[in-house]
Amino acid sequence: MTKTGIFLCVCPSITSAIDIEKTAKSIELADTVVYSHRYLCSQRGLRFLDDCVEKEKLGRIFIVACSEDIHRHVFERAFLSKIPDIEYIDIGKMKNEKDLMDLIEERLKEDRGKTIEKEIMTRDVLVIGGGVGGVQAALDIAEEGYKVYVVESSLSVGGVMAQLDKTFPTMDCSICILGPKLVDAGKHPIIELITNADIKSITGRAGDFNVEVEIKPRYVDMGKCNGCSACVEVCPVILPNEWDMNLKSRKCIYVMFAQSVPLRYTIDKEKCIECELCKKVCKLDAINLKEEPKRRTLNVGAIVLSTGTQTFDASRKEQYGYGRVKNVVTNMEFERIICASGPTGGELLRPDGKHIKKVAFIQCVGSRDLHFHEYCSFYCCMASIKEGRLVMEHEQGAEVWIFYNDLRAFGKGFEELYVRSEREGMKFIKGLPGEIRENPVTESPIVVFEDPKSGRHSEIEFDMVVLAVALEPSEQNARLAEMLDLETDAHGFFKELDSTSMPLETSNRGVFLAGTCQGPKDIPETVAQASGAAAKVCTLFSQINRTINKF
Ligand code: SF4
Ligand code: SF4
Repeated sequence: MTKTGIFLCVCPSITSAIDIEKTAKSIELADTVVYSHRYLCSQRGLRFLDDCVEKEKLGRIFIVACSEDIHRHVFERAFLSKIPDIEYIDIGKMKNEKDLMDLIEERLKEDRGKTIEKEIMTRDVLVIGGGVGGVQAALDIAEEGYKVYVVESSLSVGGVMAQLDKTFPTMDCSICILGPKLVDAGKHPIIELITNADIKSITGRAGDFNVEVEIKPRYVDMGKCNGCSACVEVCPVILPNEWDMNLKSRKCIYVMFAQSVPLRYTIDKEKCIECELCKKVCKLDAINLKEEPKRRTLNVGAIVLSTGTQTFDASRKEQYGYGRVKNVVTNMEFERIICASGPTGGELLRPDGKHIKKVAFIQCVGSRDLHFHEYCSFYCCMASIKEGRLVMEHEQGAEVWIFYNDLRAFGKGFEELYVRSEREGMKFIKGLPGEIRENPVTESPIVVFEDPKSGRHSEIEFDMVVLAVALEPSEQNARLAEMLDLETDAHGFFKELDSTSMPLETSNRGVFLAGTCQGPKDIPETVAQASGAAAKVCTLFSQINRTINKF
């Protein structure tokens, strides 16, 4: 008969309704020894456990301690060679002594047999979301030799970073940094990009997830289309280009942006008049206006969530007049206006053709606001400083005013960029404006605010006002959380297993977090977190595929 050891941790930090010392004394079971010990997970505690296992020749051990998610692996690792299948009871989940005793007795009765079992393991990985975080995670995992599927809901990988002009604090060209990563992912022999696709269901567990994916029709055969753009020339339907925030037009058959990966055309079927001019001109017979959605089932061992964020609808903050006052734009719209590949070719022009020489940036639009989101969106202070610098670089003598709550410049090189910008003439006004009105003659926005120095009511007219809008969780999060039995926080971002020590793991083993799906963050932090999630996937694969001896 295998002798069993039950070890109860007596730790002052455990908040439990159970009197552990008393319970330890009351357990009387055949072929079982019971110990209680202070700080079982400490080095001293593990040594004590080890001595007991040796002395009593234990073949089976129960650890009764706190927070299984955080501590189980400590015991597993310590006893891997002796007892590879330790049993863990999370004391925090026990209501009273009776519950604990019943559970121990029930587990002891289990006929575990003398088998050698190997966990089912698929070493393919699914990355959900193809922004910079998802692409970075995919590249890192694939470099370790594991096949990666990247499922992206839009037509191309790249995400928000592909729309930006420059990145802070280095002021590097955003697409110049991102573009090569996208191309690498597109050409990588063991990365498969599944774009224009939605996750329909996920079942299973770490090592063996089954994922149903629906691929929406593009009405252009991706296997045939070579991206020649002959179809675009003849298509008669002209539509606003969402990529350029509707500040430019596109045809009904289009690619999302010039560096799209995959660079394949798609027909906007809702707007298509089915004239078939594209079909006639396409030499590769790639057009199929009758294409239907397709389904695929993927079997993967781990999932990285990198669903990214969406932006706050600025019109909800009515006093700022977005959508009502001309030349009040969001910072994403401004990124396109100022971008060399944007609608004005990088010239700082308003839609009415006027040069933009005086710009106000309003911070915290939708963030740190009890009416909308109480959290800080993290990226926007530095994004506005960066955009302000670009204005000053584009237009000699340009005026840039930043209206802020608190200036948060806490990342590497951020404070220096802020100080340099102020020294070079950027104006920082502490306090948010009360209202933005339009001058009906000039069509310019007038910012109404209280001057913090004089305390007087002030009104200043600008050529353009840029609203630094909040980041919000992706609308995919709620659905995915339900499929994967994950928790989201009060705002809808995915909840990490432990924000201090396990920020990349989730309560579902085998599911990891990368980037802003966990909460607002900037690009460097997103990339770092994505590489961390990739490392966690590789660690999981090395742990899970070992042979487990059960008695
Ligand atoms: S659909 Fe045909 S015509 Fe249009 S880009 Fe592709 S290959 Fe060229
Ligand atoms: S069929 Fe549709 S996509 Fe093709 S040319 Fe006509 S309107 Fe454009």
